[in-house]
Amino acid sequence: MCETKKLSILGSTGSIGTQALDVCDKRGYEVVALTANSNVELLEKQIRKYKPSMAALVDEKAAAELKKRVSDTKTRILSGLEGVCECSMAKEADTVLNSIVGMAGLEPTLAAIKSKKKIALANKETLVAGGRLVTKTAEEYGVSILPVDSEHSAIFQCLESMNKKEELKSIILTASGGPFFGKTAEELKNVTVKEALKHPNWSMGAKITIDSATMMNKGLELIEAVWLFDVKPCDVDIVVHRESIVHSLIEYVDNSVIAQLGVPDMRIPIQYALTYPERFPSPVRKLSLSEFSTLSFYKPDYKTFRCINICRNAIEKGGLYPAIANGANERANELFRQGKIGFLEIAQLVEAAVNNGKSKEDYGLSDVLEADRNARLYVSEAVGIF
Ligand code: NDP
Ligand code: MG
Repeated sequence: MCETKKLSILGSTGSIGTQALDVCDKRGYEVVALTANSNVELLEKQIRKYKPSMAALVDEKAAAELKKRVSDTKTRILSGLEGVCECSMAKEADTVLNSIVGMAGLEPTLAAIKSKKKIALANKETLVAGGRLVTKTAEEYGVSILPVDSEHSAIFQCLESMNKKEELKSIILTASGGPFFGKTAEELKNVTVKEALKHPNWSMGAKITIDSATMMNKGLELIEAVWLFDVKPCDVDIVVHRESIVHSLIEYVDNSVIAQLGVPDMRIPIQYALTYPERFPSPVRKLSLSEFSTLSFYKPDYKTFRCINICRNAIEKGGLYPAIANGANERANELFRQGKIGFLEIAQLVEAAVNNGKSKEDYGLSDVLEADRNARLYVSEAVGIF
Protein backbone atom coordinates (compact mmCIF):
# COMPACT_ATOMS: atom_id res chain seq x y z
CA MET A 1 0.00 0.00 0.00
CA CYS A 2 1.22 3.50 -0.66
CA GLU A 3 0.22 7.07 -0.01
CA THR A 4 -2.97 8.29 -1.67
CA LYS A 5 -2.44 10.40 -4.76
CA LYS A 6 -5.85 10.68 -6.38
CA LEU A 7 -8.95 10.66 -4.31
CA SER A 8 -12.68 10.28 -4.67
CA ILE A 9 -14.51 11.82 -1.71
CA LEU A 10 -18.06 10.64 -1.05
CA GLY A 11 -20.00 12.98 1.25
CA SER A 12 -17.60 15.84 0.55
CA THR A 13 -19.94 18.54 1.89
CA GLY A 14 -20.17 17.03 5.39
CA SER A 15 -18.11 17.38 8.53
CA ILE A 16 -15.64 14.60 7.61
CA GLY A 17 -15.76 15.42 3.89
CA THR A 18 -14.71 19.04 4.37
CA GLN A 19 -11.96 18.04 6.80
CA ALA A 20 -10.76 15.45 4.28
CA LEU A 21 -10.52 18.20 1.67
CA ASP A 22 -8.44 20.21 4.11
CA VAL A 23 -6.07 17.24 4.42
CA CYS A 24 -5.95 17.02 0.59
CA ASP A 25 -4.98 20.72 0.44
CA LYS A 26 -2.13 20.18 2.87
CA ARG A 27 -0.88 16.95 1.28
CA GLY A 28 -1.41 18.09 -2.31
CA TYR A 29 -3.68 15.20 -3.30
CA GLU A 30 -5.65 15.43 -6.49
CA VAL A 31 -9.42 15.20 -6.01
CA VAL A 32 -10.99 13.38 -8.95
CA ALA A 33 -14.59 12.92 -7.78
CA LEU A 34 -16.90 14.53 -5.21
CA THR A 35 -20.40 13.62 -4.05
CA ALA A 36 -23.13 14.89 -1.73
CA ASN A 37 -26.84 14.49 -1.19
CA SER A 38 -28.36 17.87 -2.10
CA ASN A 39 -25.99 20.67 -1.10
CA VAL A 40 -25.67 22.45 -4.46
CA GLU A 41 -24.07 25.58 -3.04
CA LEU A 42 -21.10 23.93 -1.35
CA LEU A 43 -20.55 21.27 -4.01
CA GLU A 44 -20.36 24.02 -6.64
CA LYS A 45 -17.67 25.78 -4.60
CA GLN A 46 -15.76 22.51 -4.21
CA ILE A 47 -16.01 21.76 -7.95
CA ARG A 48 -14.61 25.20 -8.79
CA LYS A 49 -11.74 24.75 -6.36
CA TYR A 50 -10.79 21.09 -6.96
CA LYS A 51 -11.84 20.66 -10.60
CA PRO A 52 -12.78 16.96 -10.26
CA SER A 53 -13.54 15.06 -13.44
CA MET A 54 -16.96 14.07 -12.03
CA ALA A 55 -19.31 14.96 -9.22
CA ALA A 56 -22.69 13.62 -8.12
CA LEU A 57 -25.70 14.70 -6.09
CA VAL A 58 -28.17 12.03 -5.01
CA ASP A 59 -31.10 14.42 -5.29
CA GLU A 60 -32.08 14.60 -8.99
CA LYS A 61 -33.42 18.17 -8.87
CA ALA A 62 -30.35 19.42 -7.05
CA ALA A 63 -28.14 17.62 -9.56
CA ALA A 64 -29.95 19.32 -12.47
CA GLU A 65 -29.43 22.69 -10.77
CA LEU A 66 -25.75 21.95 -10.17
CA LYS A 67 -25.29 20.88 -13.78
CA LYS A 68 -26.60 24.27 -14.92
CA ARG A 69 -24.43 26.18 -12.46
CA VAL A 70 -21.16 24.49 -13.43
CA SER A 71 -21.78 24.14 -17.16
CA ASP A 72 -18.71 26.36 -17.73
CA THR A 73 -16.44 23.74 -16.07
CA LYS A 74 -15.19 20.36 -17.32
CA THR A 75 -16.73 18.43 -14.40
CA ARG A 76 -19.29 15.81 -15.44
CA ILE A 77 -22.37 15.99 -13.18
CA LEU A 78 -24.11 12.76 -12.26
CA SER A 79 -27.16 12.04 -10.12
CA GLY A 80 -28.79 9.45 -7.90
CA LEU A 81 -27.21 6.50 -6.15
CA GLU A 82 -25.80 5.33 -9.51
CA GLY A 83 -24.05 8.67 -9.89
CA VAL A 84 -22.47 8.30 -6.44
CA CYS A 85 -21.41 4.72 -7.26
CA GLU A 86 -19.87 5.91 -10.51
CA CYS A 87 -17.82 8.49 -8.57
CA SER A 88 -16.84 5.70 -6.22
CA MET A 89 -15.49 3.72 -9.19
CA ALA A 90 -13.79 6.73 -10.88
CA LYS A 91 -11.01 5.26 -13.01
CA GLU A 92 -8.34 7.76 -11.98
CA ALA A 93 -8.94 7.39 -8.21
CA ASP A 94 -6.57 5.19 -6.20
CA THR A 95 -8.48 5.82 -2.96
CA VAL A 96 -12.13 6.35 -2.04
CA LEU A 97 -12.88 8.17 1.20
CA ASN A 98 -16.43 7.33 2.16
CA SER A 99 -17.86 9.98 4.49
CA ILE A 100 -21.50 9.57 3.54
CA VAL A 101 -23.77 9.43 6.56
CA GLY A 102 -25.84 6.27 7.05
CA MET A 103 -26.71 3.14 5.13
CA ALA A 104 -26.76 5.14 1.89
CA GLY A 105 -23.00 4.54 1.90
CA LEU A 106 -23.22 0.75 1.59
CA GLU A 107 -23.52 0.34 -2.17
CA PRO A 108 -20.88 3.00 -2.93
CA THR A 109 -18.50 1.17 -0.55
CA LEU A 110 -19.12 -2.14 -2.33
CA ALA A 111 -18.69 -0.42 -5.71
CA ALA A 112 -15.33 1.01 -4.59
CA ILE A 113 -14.17 -2.38 -3.29
CA LYS A 114 -15.11 -4.07 -6.55
CA SER A 115 -13.12 -1.41 -8.42
CA LYS A 116 -10.13 -2.33 -6.20
CA LYS A 117 -9.78 1.10 -4.62
CA LYS A 118 -8.15 1.58 -1.27
CA ILE A 119 -11.01 2.46 1.10
CA ALA A 120 -10.74 5.09 3.81
CA LEU A 121 -13.92 4.45 5.74
CA ALA A 122 -15.68 6.99 7.94
CA ASN A 123 -19.15 5.70 7.03
CA LYS A 124 -19.43 3.22 9.94
CA GLU A 125 -23.05 2.29 9.14
CA THR A 126 -21.67 0.49 6.07
CA LEU A 127 -19.72 -1.99 8.19
CA VAL A 128 -22.35 -2.28 10.88
CA ALA A 129 -25.13 -3.20 8.46
CA GLY A 130 -23.08 -4.86 5.73
CA GLY A 131 -20.84 -6.76 8.17
CA ARG A 132 -19.51 -9.95 6.66
CA LEU A 133 -20.71 -8.94 3.18
CA VAL A 134 -18.34 -5.96 3.21
CA THR A 135 -15.35 -7.72 4.80
CA LYS A 136 -15.76 -10.79 2.57
CA THR A 137 -15.99 -8.66 -0.58
CA ALA A 138 -12.91 -6.69 0.48
CA GLU A 139 -11.01 -9.93 1.06
CA GLU A 140 -12.12 -11.33 -2.26
CA TYR A 141 -10.91 -8.24 -4.15
CA GLY A 142 -7.75 -7.89 -2.04
CA VAL A 143 -8.76 -4.41 -0.90
CA SER A 144 -7.80 -2.76 2.41
CA ILE A 145 -10.34 -0.92 4.50
CA LEU A 146 -8.59 1.76 6.53
CA PRO A 147 -10.52 3.19 9.46
CA VAL A 148 -11.21 6.92 9.69
CA ASP A 149 -13.35 6.71 12.83
CA SER A 150 -11.00 8.06 15.52
CA GLU A 151 -11.35 5.08 17.89
CA HIS A 152 -10.74 2.55 15.16
CA SER A 153 -7.84 4.51 13.76
CA ALA A 154 -6.42 4.48 17.29
CA ILE A 155 -6.81 0.70 17.58
CA PHE A 156 -5.37 0.23 14.10
CA GLN A 157 -2.33 2.26 15.16
CA CYS A 158 -1.98 0.40 18.48
CA LEU A 159 -2.17 -2.95 16.67
CA GLU A 160 0.94 -2.07 14.70
CA SER A 161 2.90 -3.17 17.78
CA MET A 162 1.27 -6.62 17.70
CA ASN A 163 3.31 -9.60 16.69
CA LYS A 164 0.64 -12.32 16.48
CA LYS A 165 -3.14 -12.18 16.75
CA GLU A 166 -3.07 -14.54 19.77
CA GLU A 167 -1.26 -11.84 21.74
CA LEU A 168 -4.31 -9.58 21.72
CA LYS A 169 -6.62 -9.89 24.71
CA SER A 170 -9.10 -7.07 24.25
CA ILE A 171 -9.90 -3.83 22.52
CA ILE A 172 -10.95 -0.89 24.68
CA LEU A 173 -13.01 1.78 22.96
CA THR A 174 -13.13 5.17 24.63
CA ALA A 175 -16.37 7.17 24.63
CA SER A 176 -16.74 10.83 25.50
CA GLY A 177 -20.06 10.10 27.21
CA GLY A 178 -21.71 12.85 25.15
CA PRO A 179 -23.67 15.84 26.44
CA PHE A 180 -25.74 13.78 28.90
CA PHE A 181 -22.99 12.04 30.86
CA GLY A 182 -24.06 11.54 34.49
CA LYS A 183 -27.76 12.13 33.81
CA THR A 184 -30.45 9.68 34.95
CA ALA A 185 -33.14 8.26 32.66
CA GLU A 186 -35.66 10.45 34.47
CA GLU A 187 -33.61 13.55 33.62
CA LEU A 188 -33.33 12.45 29.98
CA LYS A 189 -37.07 12.08 29.43
CA ASN A 190 -37.63 15.59 28.18
CA VAL A 191 -34.25 16.66 26.76
CA THR A 192 -34.51 18.73 23.59
CA VAL A 193 -32.88 18.24 20.20
CA LYS A 194 -30.86 21.40 20.83
CA GLU A 195 -29.45 20.00 24.08
CA ALA A 196 -28.67 16.65 22.44
CA LEU A 197 -26.82 18.41 19.62
CA LYS A 198 -24.34 20.06 22.02
CA HIS A 199 -21.41 17.65 21.94
CA PRO A 200 -18.73 18.50 24.52
CA ASN A 201 -15.63 17.68 22.42
CA TRP A 202 -16.37 17.11 18.73
CA SER A 203 -18.12 19.13 16.04
CA MET A 204 -19.84 16.59 13.80
CA GLY A 205 -22.87 16.05 11.57
CA ALA A 206 -26.31 16.00 13.25
CA LYS A 207 -26.96 12.25 12.99
CA ILE A 208 -23.72 11.14 14.67
CA THR A 209 -24.06 13.89 17.29
CA ILE A 210 -27.44 12.46 18.35
CA ASP A 211 -25.91 8.96 18.24
CA SER A 212 -23.24 10.22 20.64
CA ALA A 213 -25.89 11.60 23.00
CA THR A 214 -27.73 8.24 23.11
CA MET A 215 -24.36 6.39 23.00
CA MET A 216 -25.73 4.40 20.07
CA ASN A 217 -22.55 5.66 18.40
CA LYS A 218 -20.49 3.52 20.78
CA GLY A 219 -22.71 0.53 20.10
CA LEU A 220 -22.23 1.01 16.36
CA GLU A 221 -18.48 1.36 16.96
CA LEU A 222 -18.40 -1.87 18.93
CA ILE A 223 -19.87 -3.66 15.90
CA GLU A 224 -17.53 -1.74 13.58
CA ALA A 225 -14.56 -2.96 15.66
CA VAL A 226 -15.71 -6.58 15.49
CA TRP A 227 -15.68 -6.45 11.68
CA LEU A 228 -12.59 -4.31 11.20
CA PHE A 229 -10.35 -6.22 13.59
CA ASP A 230 -11.94 -9.69 13.46
CA VAL A 231 -12.52 -9.91 17.22
CA LYS A 232 -15.36 -11.33 19.31
CA PRO A 233 -17.92 -8.84 20.70
CA CYS A 234 -17.05 -9.99 24.24
CA ASP A 235 -13.45 -8.90 23.61
CA VAL A 236 -14.47 -5.29 22.99
CA ASP A 237 -14.77 -3.20 26.13
CA ILE A 238 -15.94 0.39 26.49
CA VAL A 239 -14.73 3.06 28.88
CA VAL A 240 -16.00 6.62 29.20
CA HIS A 241 -13.18 9.13 28.87
CA ARG A 242 -14.50 12.66 29.15
CA GLU A 243 -11.57 14.54 27.61
CA SER A 244 -11.39 12.61 24.28
CA ILE A 245 -7.58 12.61 24.40
CA VAL A 246 -7.04 8.85 24.61
CA HIS A 247 -8.74 7.72 21.41
CA SER A 248 -8.78 3.99 22.27
CA LEU A 249 -6.55 1.23 23.61
CA ILE A 250 -5.65 -2.42 23.17
CA GLU A 251 -4.78 -4.89 25.88
CA TYR A 252 -2.30 -7.70 25.35
CA VAL A 253 -2.36 -11.11 27.04
CA ASP A 254 0.37 -9.98 29.44
CA ASN A 255 -1.97 -7.14 30.57
CA SER A 256 0.18 -4.50 28.91
CA VAL A 257 -2.10 -1.78 27.52
CA ILE A 258 -1.23 0.35 24.48
CA ALA A 259 -3.10 3.59 23.79
CA GLN A 260 -3.14 6.22 21.04
CA LEU A 261 -3.49 9.85 22.13
CA GLY A 262 -3.94 13.19 20.43
CA VAL A 263 -6.08 16.30 20.52
CA PRO A 264 -9.64 15.62 19.32
CA ASP A 265 -9.26 16.53 15.64
CA MET A 266 -10.47 14.17 12.90
CA ARG A 267 -7.76 15.32 10.51
CA ILE A 268 -5.27 13.00 12.25
CA PRO A 269 -7.24 9.78 11.56
CA ILE A 270 -8.29 11.05 8.12
CA GLN A 271 -4.70 11.78 7.16
CA TYR A 272 -3.37 8.50 8.53
CA ALA A 273 -5.93 6.51 6.53
CA LEU A 274 -4.63 8.27 3.42
CA THR A 275 -0.89 8.11 4.13
CA TYR A 276 -0.64 4.68 5.82
CA PRO A 277 1.84 3.14 6.40
CA GLU A 278 3.74 6.43 6.26
CA ARG A 279 3.32 9.46 8.52
CA PHE A 280 3.69 13.12 7.66
CA PRO A 281 3.34 16.41 9.55
CA SER A 282 -0.30 17.45 9.92
CA PRO A 283 -2.11 20.76 10.51
CA VAL A 284 -3.37 19.41 13.83
CA ARG A 285 -2.32 21.06 17.10
CA LYS A 286 0.32 19.26 19.14
CA LEU A 287 -0.93 17.46 22.24
CA SER A 288 0.41 19.05 25.36
CA LEU A 289 -0.31 16.62 28.19
CA SER A 290 0.60 19.09 30.91
CA GLU A 291 -2.45 21.18 29.89
CA PHE A 292 -4.56 18.45 31.45
CA SER A 293 -4.34 18.06 35.20
CA THR A 294 -6.42 14.87 34.93
CA LEU A 295 -7.64 12.43 32.34
CA SER A 296 -10.77 10.75 33.63
CA PHE A 297 -12.16 7.27 32.96
CA TYR A 298 -15.52 5.80 34.01
CA LYS A 299 -17.54 2.67 33.46
CA PRO A 300 -20.45 3.48 31.09
CA ASP A 301 -23.92 3.75 32.62
CA TYR A 302 -25.38 0.86 30.62
CA LYS A 303 -28.77 1.14 32.32
CA THR A 304 -29.39 4.71 31.23
CA PHE A 305 -27.59 4.54 27.86
CA ARG A 306 -29.19 1.32 26.72
CA CYS A 307 -28.15 1.49 23.08
CA ILE A 308 -24.67 0.11 23.79
CA ASN A 309 -25.97 -3.23 25.05
CA ILE A 310 -28.71 -3.34 22.41
CA CYS A 311 -25.91 -3.23 19.81
CA ARG A 312 -23.83 -5.77 21.74
CA ASN A 313 -26.82 -8.09 21.76
CA ALA A 314 -27.40 -7.52 18.02
CA ILE A 315 -23.83 -8.43 17.04
CA GLU A 316 -23.84 -11.42 19.42
CA LYS A 317 -27.03 -12.67 17.75
CA GLY A 318 -25.25 -12.09 14.45
CA GLY A 319 -26.77 -12.35 10.97
CA LEU A 320 -28.85 -9.35 10.00
CA TYR A 321 -29.46 -8.10 13.56
CA PRO A 322 -26.82 -5.36 13.36
CA ALA A 323 -28.44 -4.14 10.10
CA ILE A 324 -31.81 -4.11 11.88
CA ALA A 325 -30.40 -2.16 14.85
CA ASN A 326 -28.74 0.32 12.51
CA GLY A 327 -31.82 0.81 10.29
CA ALA A 328 -34.12 1.26 13.27
CA ASN A 329 -31.70 3.74 14.80
CA GLU A 330 -31.40 5.77 11.60
CA ARG A 331 -35.16 6.17 11.51
CA ALA A 332 -35.55 6.82 15.26
CA ASN A 333 -32.66 9.30 15.23
CA GLU A 334 -34.33 11.16 12.35
CA LEU A 335 -37.71 11.21 14.13
CA PHE A 336 -36.08 12.60 17.28
CA ARG A 337 -34.33 15.33 15.27
CA GLN A 338 -37.70 16.21 13.74
CA GLY A 339 -39.13 16.58 17.25
CA LYS A 340 -41.56 13.72 16.69
CA ILE A 341 -40.39 11.31 19.42
CA GLY A 342 -38.70 11.69 22.80
CA PHE A 343 -35.01 11.00 23.45
CA LEU A 344 -35.58 7.79 25.42
CA GLU A 345 -37.83 6.39 22.72
CA ILE A 346 -34.82 5.98 20.42
CA ALA A 347 -33.41 3.08 22.48
CA GLN A 348 -36.86 1.58 23.04
CA LEU A 349 -37.57 1.53 19.31
CA VAL A 350 -34.17 0.11 18.35
CA GLU A 351 -34.53 -2.63 20.95
CA ALA A 352 -38.06 -3.52 19.83
CA ALA A 353 -36.94 -3.65 16.19
CA VAL A 354 -34.08 -6.03 17.06
CA ASN A 355 -36.41 -8.24 19.13
CA ASN A 356 -38.97 -8.39 16.35
CA GLY A 357 -36.69 -8.50 13.32
CA LYS A 358 -36.09 -11.50 11.08
CA SER A 359 -32.55 -12.55 10.35
CA LYS A 360 -30.54 -15.14 8.49
CA GLU A 361 -26.94 -16.23 8.78
CA ASP A 362 -25.95 -16.12 5.12
CA TYR A 363 -26.90 -12.80 3.61
CA GLY A 364 -26.30 -10.80 0.47
CA LEU A 365 -26.85 -7.15 -0.44
CA SER A 366 -30.59 -7.54 -1.09
CA ASP A 367 -31.05 -9.16 2.36
CA VAL A 368 -29.22 -6.30 4.09
CA LEU A 369 -31.25 -3.69 2.21
CA GLU A 370 -34.49 -5.51 3.03
CA ALA A 371 -33.59 -5.83 6.74
CA ASP A 372 -32.81 -2.10 6.78
CA ARG A 373 -36.10 -1.20 5.06
CA ASN A 374 -38.13 -3.41 7.39
CA ALA A 375 -36.43 -2.01 10.50
CA ARG A 376 -37.23 1.55 9.43
CA LEU A 377 -40.79 0.55 8.65
CA TYR A 378 -41.09 -1.16 12.03
CA VAL A 379 -40.11 2.09 13.77
CA SER A 380 -42.45 4.20 11.61
CA GLU A 381 -45.36 1.84 12.32
CA ALA A 382 -44.58 1.68 16.05
CA VAL A 383 -44.95 5.45 16.36
CA GLY A 384 -47.57 5.84 13.62
CA ILE A 385 -45.49 8.34 11.64
CA PHE A 386 -44.63 7.69 8.00
P1 NDP B 1 -22.51 15.03 7.79
O1 NDP B 1 -23.98 14.98 8.01
O2 NDP B 1 -21.76 16.23 8.23
O3 NDP B 1 -22.19 14.79 6.23
C1 NDP B 1 -22.80 13.75 5.51
C2 NDP B 1 -22.39 13.77 4.06
O4 NDP B 1 -23.13 12.74 3.38
C3 NDP B 1 -22.78 15.08 3.33
O5 NDP B 1 -21.90 15.31 2.28
C4 NDP B 1 -24.17 14.76 2.79
O6 NDP B 1 -24.54 15.58 1.67
C5 NDP B 1 -23.97 13.31 2.38
N1 NDP B 1 -25.24 12.57 2.38
C6 NDP B 1 -26.29 12.71 3.23
N2 NDP B 1 -27.26 11.84 2.92
C7 NDP B 1 -26.83 11.15 1.85
C8 NDP B 1 -27.41 10.13 1.03
N3 NDP B 1 -28.63 9.64 1.27
N4 NDP B 1 -26.69 9.63 0.00
C9 NDP B 1 -25.46 10.11 -0.26
N5 NDP B 1 -24.87 11.09 0.44
C10 NDP B 1 -25.55 11.60 1.49
O7 NDP B 1 -21.92 13.71 8.48
P2 NDP B 1 -20.48 13.50 9.14
O8 NDP B 1 -19.42 14.01 8.23
O9 NDP B 1 -20.51 13.93 10.54
O10 NDP B 1 -20.41 11.91 9.17
C11 NDP B 1 -20.19 11.14 8.00
C12 NDP B 1 -19.88 9.70 8.40
O11 NDP B 1 -18.67 9.70 9.14
C13 NDP B 1 -20.93 9.07 9.32
O12 NDP B 1 -21.04 7.71 9.02
C14 NDP B 1 -20.34 9.25 10.70
O13 NDP B 1 -20.78 8.26 11.60
C15 NDP B 1 -18.86 9.10 10.41
N6 NDP B 1 -17.98 9.76 11.38
C16 NDP B 1 -18.06 11.11 11.56
C17 NDP B 1 -17.24 11.74 12.47
C18 NDP B 1 -17.25 13.24 12.61
O14 NDP B 1 -16.40 13.77 13.35
N7 NDP B 1 -18.12 13.97 11.95
C19 NDP B 1 -16.31 10.97 13.33
C20 NDP B 1 -16.28 9.58 13.02
C21 NDP B 1 -17.11 8.99 12.10
P3 NDP B 1 -25.40 16.96 1.88
O15 NDP B 1 -24.44 17.95 2.49
O16 NDP B 1 -25.83 17.33 0.51
O17 NDP B 1 -26.54 16.60 2.78
MG1 MG C 1 -15.80 7.54 16.69
